Amino acid sequence: METSIIQKLKNRTAQLLEAPLLKSGRVLDVRHWENAAMVEIDLHLPEAPMADWHEVPSIKFKAASFTYRDYTPFGWDAETHTCSLLIDTAHEGPGSRWARNLQAGETIHYLAIENTRQSPHPTDLVVGLGDASSLAHLLALQQLTLPKNRFDGAVVLDNPHAGHLFQDYFRSALTILSSPDELTGWLAAQGYCTTHTRFYLTGHNGLVAVMRRSLKNLGHSNFKVKGFWS
Ligand SMILES: Cc1cc2nc3c(=O)[nH]c(=O)nc-3n(C[C@H](O)[C@H](O)[C@H](O)COP(=O)(O)OP(=O)(O)OC[C@H]3O[C@@H](n4cnc5c(N)ncnc54)[C@H](O)[C@@H]3O)c2cc1C
Repeated sequence: METSIIQKLKNRTAQLLEAPLLKSGRVLDVRHWENAAMVEIDLHLPEAPMADWHEVPSIKFKAASFTYRDYTPFGWDAETHTCSLLIDTAHEGPGSRWARNLQAGETIHYLAIENTRQSPHPTDLVVGLGDASSLAHLLALQQLTLPKNRFDGAVVLDNPHAGHLFQDYFRSALTILSSPDELTGWLAAQGYCTTHTRFYLTGHNGLVAVMRRSLKNLGHSNFKVKGFWS
C-alpha cells in the first residue's frame, strides 16, 4: 500500500518536472511491415523547425515514464510540418514497445530535436551505410543530398522480407545486403574513389566498427560515424 503511494508520488513529480519541457505532436498513420518487425509512423509536429534541418536530425521521444529514445525523422515537409519514422522493433525495449503500440490520432511527446552532425558533403559522392535501425537516417541523408545522383550506399537487413518491402516502398539508391560480410565484399567491389567519396556509417556499434575497418583496409579515411546502440 505504502509502496503504491510512493510510486504515485514519484510518477506525479516526474510528470510535473517533465511537462514544461515536452513538446507534442500527433500520429497521422502507422504501418506495420508484414513479417518484418519494422514500424513506419507518420507524424505531424507543428513546433518542429523543419525548414532548418540541413543536417540529419534525431528526435528524443518519450517512450515511457521518464524514458526517452532517439528516432530519426525522414521525408519531412516543412510546409505541412509532417515527417515519418522507421523503427526497428525486432527486440524488446521501451522504444520497441512504444513504436508497436502507437495508433493514428494519438498524441506523442518529445523532449528535444538534436543534430547528429551528419550532413552531406557539398560536392563529393555521399555513401550511406547502415542497418535496420538506421534506415530512416539513410533516407534522411539521401533527402539532403543534391543532386540525388550524388547519393549511394548499402544497408544490412538480416530479414530478406524487410529488404523486399523497403525496395517496394521507397525510391532509394541503397543496395540491400544480408550480412556484414556481404557488405565488406560489396564495398571492395565498388571501387569508390578515396579522394572524392564521403562515407556515413550508422547503426549498431558492432556493424559500424566492421564498416570502419573495411573502409580503412580499402584505403579510405573520409568517414563520419554515428553508432546507435550496442
Ligand atoms: C541519433 C540516434 C538516432 C536513432 N534513430 C533510430 C531510428 O530511426 N530507428 C530505430 O529503429 N532506431 C533508432 N535509434 C536507436 C533507438 O534510439 C533505440 O536505441 C533502439 O530503438 C532501442 O531502444 P529500445 O528501448 O527498444 O531497446 P533498449 O531497451 O534500449 O535495448 C534493449 C536491448 O535490445 C538491443 N537493441 C537495441 N536496439 C536494437 C536493434 N535495433 N536491434 C536489435 N537489438 C537492439 C540492445 O542492445 C539491448 O540489449 C537511434 C539512436 C540514435 C542514438
